[in-house]
Amino acid sequence: MKSADFDNLRERMVQRQLVARGVRDSRVLAAMSSVRRHDFVDARNQPAAYDDRPLPIGFGQTISQPYIVAWMTELLQVGPQDCVLEIGTGCGYQTAVLARLARHVYSIERIAELSQQAALNLARAGVTNVTLEVGDGYEGWPEHAPYPCIISAAAPSDVPEALTRQLDPGGRLVLPVGGRGFQGMVRVTKQPDGSLKREYLGTVAFVPLVHGVERE
Ligand code: SAH
Repeated sequence: MKSADFDNLRERMVQRQLVARGVRDSRVLAAMSSVRRHDFVDARNQPAAYDDRPLPIGFGQTISQPYIVAWMTELLQVGPQDCVLEIGTGCGYQTAVLARLARHVYSIERIAELSQQAALNLARAGVTNVTLEVGDGYEGWPEHAPYPCIISAAAPSDVPEALTRQLDPGGRLVLPVGGRGFQGMVRVTKQPDGSLKREYLGTVAFVPLVHGVERE
């Protein structure tokens, strides 16, 4: 498939899957229009890169459906001066979308091979305002905390305390929460007085947030 064909498929995805379902934030729509999702999946999956579904990225993991990426990003309300902490780098696609909106993205992945692949994908896409680390997202990344935005692409059974601790007052944490199968999409907002406000925004299906770093 030619580059122009992918560009057409991507624009159609933005209109039919995102705009049609109510994604409104113009910065999010622009980011989704510009990041070449087909560059983040292997050759076999490229023709399906703009389909309305998740895709396999190896190691039993998936890249979320475009709508879910856009929706979570919109919920996160990323400003141009914000630093974002992302849990679950995967193939780096969501990282690239966030990097378009944020000052810097810190992203943690527990499977080293995926993190390495994401680094290659992001370099090829010309994304430079990201730092990747192999580690356990349950711990967050205290070194760069606090963050105005934290997002997880994998579901813990409860909101990890380390992540709310590393949130700025006024900051937002967006993540699926629940057991295997289906979970609730949750946004936790830290109030200026440090208390937490929790919103349940719908039912989703994500891979689980797994404790510890993957070892062979
Ligand atoms: N946003 C990713 C989606 C990856 S799926 C993308 O665009 O491709 C979720 C990812 O979270 C998987 O790669 C999985 O390995 C990772 N993950 C699961 N538990 C984790 C943990 N405790 N810490 C860091 N990453 C984790």
